[in-house]
Amino acid sequence: MRIAVLHFSHETVTFLKSDTTVDDFIYQGSPTSGEALLQSAPRSYIGGFVKVAREFPDVELVGIESPLFPKRGTASGWIVTEAFERFLGKMISELKAKGPFDGVYMSLHGAMGVRGVPKPEAEIARRVRAAVGRKAFIVGTFDPHANEDKEFLEAADMAFCVKYFPHYDEYLQGERAARTLVRAIRGDYKPATVTVKVPIATPTVMQWTGASPWMNLVQQALVWEAREPDVYVNVMFSFPWSDVPDIGITVQAMTNGNPELAKKVGDDIAAFAWRKRADLVKAAEIHLMPQGVALAKKAVEAGEKPVVLGDHSDRSGAATWLLGQVIEQDLGKTLIATLADEEACARLASAKVGDAFDMAVGGRLDESAGQPIRIKGTVKHVIETQSRRNGPGQRWIAVEFGRGNVVVLSPYLVQIMEVDTLRELGLDPDSFDVIAIKSRVHFRRGFDDNGFAKTIHLVEPIEPFLGTRRLEALPYKHVDLKQFYPYGNPTFP
Ligand SMILES: [Zn+2]
Repeated sequence: MRIAVLHFSHETVTFLKSDTTVDDFIYQGSPTSGEALLQSAPRSYIGGFVKVAREFPDVELVGIESPLFPKRGTASGWIVTEAFERFLGKMISELKAKGPFDGVYMSLHGAMGVRGVPKPEAEIARRVRAAVGRKAFIVGTFDPHANEDKEFLEAADMAFCVKYFPHYDEYLQGERAARTLVRAIRGDYKPATVTVKVPIATPTVMQWTGASPWMNLVQQALVWEAREPDVYVNVMFSFPWSDVPDIGITVQAMTNGNPELAKKVGDDIAAFAWRKRADLVKAAEIHLMPQGVALAKKAVEAGEKPVVLGDHSDRSGAATWLLGQVIEQDLGKTLIATLADEEACARLASAKVGDAFDMAVGGRLDESAGQPIRIKGTVKHVIETQSRRNGPGQRWIAVEFGRGNVVVLSPYLVQIMEVDTLRELGLDPDSFDVIAIKSRVHFRRGFDDNGFAKTIHLVEPIEPFLGTRRLEALPYKHVDLKQFYPYGNPTFP
């Protein structure tokens, strides 16, 4: 049983000005192939896939040369056509050269935005299908922020999407993809799938599955998987910062050779989402920056600390709005982690702990990032990061200023998700009253689910910049927002 494995994944904020280029996918360790690709993410989709696929002694895995996640993470805009064609083209020629294959596993995201390619994951599936033929089975794994429609499963056979946000079950979905793919190749599983679009658009900050009603939506899917053997359900929440035609909630249901049951399950989940639409679109409370920071200050005075301030809207990582308010409202013992400034990090290449610091940092990249802010203080830590999560081989600088405040500069956008990440950086998270981070929901795993934060407030700038929850302010070209609840009056089903 020969199975090809490939990876092509990005969550593209198409409203960011700087395109994602060929160069963004090329860095130490990327592209990668063979065993290195199979080992590239041991705790994520590929890790789960490889672990289970190798439990079957007759399976041979072939790692096709693939680019890993772009080096600026999610802080770069449209993927240029050249990059898509170059990396996908290489994959397709390798699939042809190293075939025949009985199956293909594609580690995807679903929210890729490529100039001139309206539905990139469906396009990848079509080209892979053309390369490996009708008889091979093709399975993809997806992030819950995927923007998809029926086209993907018209070309591929199966899809497994993460259920939770934060994305706790990446490894699990990889495991399921492997087991089901092997069963399909053996003739023991005959994928019968249905795709249902539900015309609801939500900013991702709403989509936390740790609370109702998103938790109930996930539960509805889990119940179907529990009560019917061989049923799998995907609920793709969608990523509205990609200006692509297939945003909005997507439900996929899959059964073992039973199209009627697939339709029943898919329709049931879609109807559930539609019934809950009024709650789904207002699941999180967001404060404008000045009010949110004032609330944080009040909470500290009341002893309800540590406070986490989550700037959900900063898509470049360079936004200075929160830092500005921390200074203006004179907060102390506040950690701002991080502020992206590639230029400052490069200029500080020889910075040492204890150096005096006086520099305007952040901002500049676009209007959503705001103006740079001058910080006078002392270099507290110089950190060389190595982990893939934080980007390969980056230099971060922590600067102490004001009344025990620290701002951490990183070259690119960083979502701090775990308190332990701060400890790895040499910072003592327990010594701060307020921790201000650039995250919407992912931080819940390390700051909320474990009870660390006593107070949490989500904030965004006064003006509706490109990361705003006010989607109606975004300059869409490929989406008619009026087709989606709550921005118009779509009918369903
Ligand atoms: Zn996601």
